[in-house]
This record gives sequence, C-alpha cells and structure tokens, in this order.
Amino acid sequence: MLHFPPAWLVRSALVLLLLALCGTSLLLWRQMEDAQQERIRDRVGYQARTLATELETNLIDEVEGLRRMALEWNHRGRIPQDEWSLEANFALEHFPGYQSIQWMGADLRMHWVLPETGNEAARGFRLTRNHPNFNLAMQAKASGEAQMSNSFTLVQGGRGFILYTPLYISDEQSKRTFDGFLQGVFRVESLMDELLAKLDDRNFSVLLLESGQPIYRKQQPESLGQLSQRVPLHLLNNSNFALQLSPTPKLVEQLRSPLPQVVLGASLLTSLLLVAALALALENARRASALQAGYRRLNEEVSQREHAEQDLRDSRQRLQLVLDLTDSSQDGLFIFELASREVLHMNQATHASLGYDADTFRRLLKEDPEQLLPGFHTWLELVRQAHRDDNSSIFQREMRRADGSLQAAEISAQMVNLNGRDYLIGVSRDNRERLELEARLQRLSRQDGLTGLYNRRYFDRQLGGEWRRLRRLGAPLALLMLDVDHFKAYNDRLGHQAGDDALRRVAQALQQSLRREGDVACRYGGEEFAIILANTAEEGARHVAERVMARIAELAIEHPASPEERLTLSIGIAISDPAREDQPDSLVSRSDAALYRAKHEGRNRTCLWEKGQG
Ligand code: GH3
Ligand code: MG
Ligand code: MG
Repeated sequence: MLHFPPAWLVRSALVLLLLALCGTSLLLWRQMEDAQQERIRDRVGYQARTLATELETNLIDEVEGLRRMALEWNHRGRIPQDEWSLEANFALEHFPGYQSIQWMGADLRMHWVLPETGNEAARGFRLTRNHPNFNLAMQAKASGEAQMSNSFTLVQGGRGFILYTPLYISDEQSKRTFDGFLQGVFRVESLMDELLAKLDDRNFSVLLLESGQPIYRKQQPESLGQLSQRVPLHLLNNSNFALQLSPTPKLVEQLRSPLPQVVLGASLLTSLLLVAALALALENARRASALQAGYRRLNEEVSQREHAEQDLRDSRQRLQLVLDLTDSSQDGLFIFELASREVLHMNQATHASLGYDADTFRRLLKEDPEQLLPGFHTWLELVRQAHRDDNSSIFQREMRRADGSLQAAEISAQMVNLNGRDYLIGVSRDNRERLELEARLQRLSRQDGLTGLYNRRYFDRQLGGEWRRLRRLGAPLALLMLDVDHFKAYNDRLGHQAGDDALRRVAQALQQSLRREGDVACRYGGEEFAIILANTAEEGARHVAERVMARIAELAIEHPASPEERLTLSIGIAISDPAREDQPDSLVSRSDAALYRAKHEGRNRTCLWEKGQG
C-alpha cells in the first residue's frame, strides 16, 4: 500500500522544485544573455572595425586628387597656377571635407590658397621651426611620403589637420629639387562629417580620439555606452587616432536574438507546467489511493458485517440449539417475567415432569400460581430476599402435579434485572430420589452395619438429647446395658460367622422387646447393647429387661461353651434422677457398673444400679 506524505510536505517539495526549475531557467537565461552580450560586443566590434576601415579607405580615396596633382607636379614640373587652381577646385568640389588646398613653397611660405574665402588668415603664412607641424613637414620632405599631421589649431581658427605632400621638380640633369608642399587642410569636424556622411554610421555614436583625447563627437539620439568599442584609426600614415563607437539600441536590437527570452519564457512555462502536472499527478495518485483506502475500508466493513451476520446466525442457531438441548434435560428450566408471570422460556421437563402440557403450565403460572406452587408468593418474597442478601437461592418446595398430588421439588432461582424488568430464572428438580437417598444416608450414618440397630454415635446423641429433654420435664430416663455372656467362647467354638448371626438375632430380639415410641435399642460396641427408655422408671425398665430375657430365651441359641448351653445376656440398669445434677456419662457408668455386677453374680441376669454401689 502506498503511503502519502502529508500534504504540506508535498506542497513544499513542489514549491521547492518549482523554485529550483525557475532558478535553473534564470541561470540558463543569464548565461544565454551573457553569451548574446558577448556576441553583440563582437558584432559591434566587427562593425566598428569595418567602419574605421571604411573611413580610412574613404580618406585615402578623397585625398587621391591631391596625390594625383603631386604626381603630375613631380612629373611635369611646377604646374602653372591657373591649371593648379582648376585641379584644386575640382578636388575641393569633389570632397567638401577640405578646409583648403594650398601650396607652400620650398621657402615654407604659403603661395597659393584655395578657396580664398575663409582662408584669408593662411595667406602669407610661414612654417617656422616652432610650428607644431614643422618636424612632420621636414619628415615628409625627407622621405618623399605624404604625412598627415596631428590636429592643431588652424590659423583659420578651429582645429584641423594638414596633409603634407612633398613636391619635387627635376632639372635637365634629372636632379630632383624640393619644391614645397601640396597641402590639404581639413577641419576636424567637416572632415569627419564628410567621411562619415558617406558611411552608414547611423548605427553608432562616434567619438574620435587623438592620443586618447576626444577631438570629435557625432552623437546619435541614443547610444549604449556600455557596449562601446574603441578601434585604432589610421588617418593615412598617422596612427595617433582611435574611434570610439557606441552602438545605438536599434543596432543592438537588430543584433540581439530573442532566443534567451524565448528560452526563459519557455523554460519557466515548462517548469510551471511540469510542476503543475506533477502536482496534478500527485493529487490524482493521492485521490486514487484515498479512494482505494475507502474501497478497502468499505470491503472490510462489508466483510465485517457479513461476519457479524454469520455470527448472529450462528449464535441464533446456537441459542436455538441450546434451547432445544434444554428439552433433553431432566431438570426443568424456566424463565418468566416477575410482574406479568409471562413465561419467556421453559423446557419440556418443566411442565412434562408435572404432567402438564406447556399451555396449561403457562396459564396456571399466570393465573393461579398458588395452585401450581403452594405458597408461591411467599416463595417469591424469599427469592427476592435472597437476591437482595446475595444468599444462596436453592429452595425445597412442593409443586402440584396435574393429578393434584404434590411433588417435592428443589428449585434454584435467580433474579435478573434486564432493561428495567425483573426476570426469574429457575431450575427445578424432582428431588424425591435425592431426598430418599439423603434419608437413607442419614439412616445409614446412625445405623449399625451388622445388626441394623442404631450405632454408638446415635446412642451418644440420643442419650444426651433425651437426658436433657427429660430433665427439663422432670421425668426419669432408664438406660439398660446388655452384654452377651461368654461370647468369646461362642466365637471360638462356633466361628465368627456364627457369632455375627447370633448378634443379629439378639439385636432383632432387643428391637422386638421395645413397645413405646421413643425407646431406642443400640449396639454399644462388640457384643454389648444399650437400650434407652425415655420417661421410664425402675419398674418399666425391669419390665423391658424381662421381656428381653424372655425373647433371648425364646431364641434358644445354642452355646456349647456356656453353662446354660444356650446364649444368654446380662443386663445392667440405671435410672436417671432428674433432681440430681449428674451427666449422661454417669448414667452410662452406673448401668455399666450394674452390668458388671450382673456378670459377677453369675451372668444371665439383670441388676439394677443402686445407691452406694459406686
Ligand atoms: P463375659 O461373659 O464376661 O461377657 O465373657 P465374654 O467372652 O462375652 O466377654 P469378652 O469381652 O471376653 O469377649 C467378648 C467377645 O465378643 C470377644 C469377641 O470375640 C466377641 N465379639 C465382639 N464383637 C463381635 C462381633 O461383632 N462378632 C462376633 N462374632 N464376635 C464379636
Ligand atoms: Mg463384653
Ligand atoms: Mg460378653
């Protein structure tokens, strides 16, 4: 399963990505822009060099007339003034850049000057040693090469240049003699204006520098100083000049390619689109995942519900099974609401064990519960009480069978409060058998196993109880102690089995000798018996003893080792005196003493304990 990071993290990552992409785009744009700037600089430089070269070439072309005149002069000899004037005027017309064309003789004095107007000051000029161009002129003279001067202050006013073209004439012996200079005088401004006029210079602002100092400026309405290029300018032989060209924005614009902007725009747009697409894709993925999670949850819920329904079906089936199973129970199981006594559930045993059908049982419980369970309302109170006291709630009751007879029932009842209603859950059991069993157990617990008479434990309890009861009543209690005579010898002679039989018969005889209810015969131990006679004094006791003796005699059990040749008993009698503060124990010891006396006096007799006997 795909886990999405929190939305803020995704958003921040996208913003960071966008920033990184935009940064990269800007960097790219910057680099392209720099490269373009470099290229523009190159192009501007190239154009500037081209312009300078054209300017230089122009100048060479323009002064061609002067060169030709000088050549003619040197070849033919000094040209007559009118012819010179013709050619000079032609040159002046041809190139308005001239301030004047003039001939300075070998005496370094000015002879001819054209045009005359505007150059009056040049007339009669003499080049002296202290003139700034003197050395240059001398250099031209010596070398025979034309020399362009640096700028200087013209005698006509303003700054200008002079092109010194040395002239020579040859005599018959072909000897060359210096004949002065043919001079082209240029004003800086008009020379540059003229030279530039022939060039397509509108793309640049032009600055002419001489030895680094500006001497001429031709400004375009707008120019970009930061892209200016300085290129060397050779005005003929003079290399002291430089042109500083600043391109116009228009030129730069022509040279500039829109590519960086296009690239920048495109890459910014691409970045934006990319990030937007990514954001959309992520959002889609997130939604898809959320949808999937939703589906999963739904599926889980559906399967949970199916499970729950299955569980419900199962538990209903189980409940039905449990309810059905309760029918197989021997015990009655019933649940009814206390207030209405409406039966919620009961198993078959509940009604069938009493002989009712289900409907009759329901009706009886609702309409006449006392008929069904005598003392029903009292019993219900007891159940409530037990519930309140948290006591055991097993009740021994009787229920009326369909045939009208009563049946003992042990009912275990439990009260339950559910949703504000009290219910009683009961388990009833027909406990006749158990009661009988209990009675038998109880009987067994107080019975002697061999003879069926009460045992010694019962004797002790009975004697104590009767003694206390009769003392309260002020009535006497007689205790007879009986012992079989020579019984050891009987066993020895006839065997233990015969001894047991004899004891059983003696016991039966004792039991048969009792007439009154409450008289109890017990086996005291071994071949010794005891008879408790309630509310009996000496006479009664003797009477019983005689009856016992008579019975034993009737039995006529042979005893080969007895002088009587039959089985006999000795009896000791003691009577309690309610007026005396004695204990049941003393009654036993007194009857014992009496028995001892009977033995002593020859056995087969009855002795009564008497005072003073011990
Ligand atoms: P006495 O006349 O003095 O009473 O003599 P005795 O032999 O009866 O008395 P003793 O106390 O010496 O012997 C009692 C005998 O009773 C001993 C025992 O063998 C016998 N005996 C006691 N209980 C049983 C019994 O449950 N079954 C049998 N078979 N014999 C018993
Ligand atoms: Mg004995
Ligand atoms: Mg004996």
